[in-house]
Amino acid sequence: MLNNLILVLNCGSSSLKFSVINPKNKKKYLFGIVERLFLSDTYIKWECYKKKYNKIIGSNISHEDALDFIIDYIFLKKEDIFKRIIGIGHRVVHGGRKIKKSVLIDDKIMNLIEEASIFAPLHNPANLIGIKKIIKKYPLLSKKNVAVFDTSFYQNMSNVSFLYAIPYYFYEKYGIRRYGAHGISHQYVAYEASFLLNKKFNSLNIITCHLGNGASVSAICNGICVDTSMGLTPLEGLVMGTRSGDIDPAIIFFMYKNANMSIDDIEELLTKKSGLLGLSGVSSDFRYLESNYNLNNQIKISVDIFCHRISKYICAYTALMDGRLDAIIFTGGIGENVPFIREIIISKLSLLGFKIDIKLNFSIKHGQHGIVTLNSSRPIFIIPTNEELAISQEAINIINNI
Ligand code: ADP
Repeated sequence: MLNNLILVLNCGSSSLKFSVINPKNKKKYLFGIVERLFLSDTYIKWECYKKKYNKIIGSNISHEDALDFIIDYIFLKKEDIFKRIIGIGHRVVHGGRKIKKSVLIDDKIMNLIEEASIFAPLHNPANLIGIKKIIKKYPLLSKKNVAVFDTSFYQNMSNVSFLYAIPYYFYEKYGIRRYGAHGISHQYVAYEASFLLNKKFNSLNIITCHLGNGASVSAICNGICVDTSMGLTPLEGLVMGTRSGDIDPAIIFFMYKNANMSIDDIEELLTKKSGLLGLSGVSSDFRYLESNYNLNNQIKISVDIFCHRISKYICAYTALMDGRLDAIIFTGGIGENVPFIREIIISKLSLLGFKIDIKLNFSIKHGQHGIVTLNSSRPIFIIPTNEELAISQEAINIINNI
């Protein structure tokens, strides 16, 4: 058996995802998630060779404790897999001002990831804890840890796209600009689209919509991302599960001055209590919103606003396409699994030559690639995202070049 597997780690603020993948044949050998970190009943579920497992591993469990459990309890019992790991790919949310692409991790890179925490205070510190722990736990592979960033895909955006219209000084001194997020997913589905369209990546003109709990749209022209809906942080842009997306910034001053709210209260409101949850008043979970769309008018309005904003962004991004739009791509939990949302969004794009095929749209099953438009239309594809695979492929490319 070849030693050719990559361990992919995604240490989030309250969860930790792991998988062991062969980046070449795309096979996932083992994968799982630890949820409820730092809460009661921290829970792990994992799958290996199609067998599913789950276990409560304790209370108030930290990322480090969870990694100890994953390696000591799961990996060491699967030595055939464990021994074949040749490197680790870490998802890192923010590369900050200095890190432009995936990179082998050393002390300098860890310092830069820490520096970039100012832009992703919930995520970068957790990513870094995972990196440090795994280097300590796994010294043999300590020089084969690769950081893959959600911001890298946006590094080629021009300053026309990434600057805010505030005094330039704030960009120069504090790095306030649009950095984007979800880049690993947008880049992955864009590569997949180039195969589906039989086009070279550097001549691809597409708009990618990642619609999950977090949601964003990216405009890709000649294989380069030229704009994206998320900004300094993932709060900007589309309506999301609990995030407001675009609002008039004066709403913040209004809340502060008139609603007796502190800056922390407003931050919590806009990031955790707004979006579909705030509008509907009941849930951010699209499964629930979908089944109640025709039963509850407030849910209908919330979902319609969600779709309206996506259609608006898609139309705006066609202006950046250099005269040719090859396709639109939907991905993410909602983009892949909720046909009626695609129908509402696409119904607003007829001026651009997109016509939905209702039967095809409803026929695509969970996890499938597919086209949802009529023969007479420009194509719209569903492409399931696979961020772990993308991270493993970035990691192996870098490790093979050491
Ligand atoms: P994230 O990775 O941003 O946490 P996901 O891409 O997993 O989010 O998407 C989560 C969203 O997708 C949730 O709103 C969830 O309800 C919705 N979703 C996932 N699968 C389905 C499905 N089969 N039907 C309806 N909604 C779904």
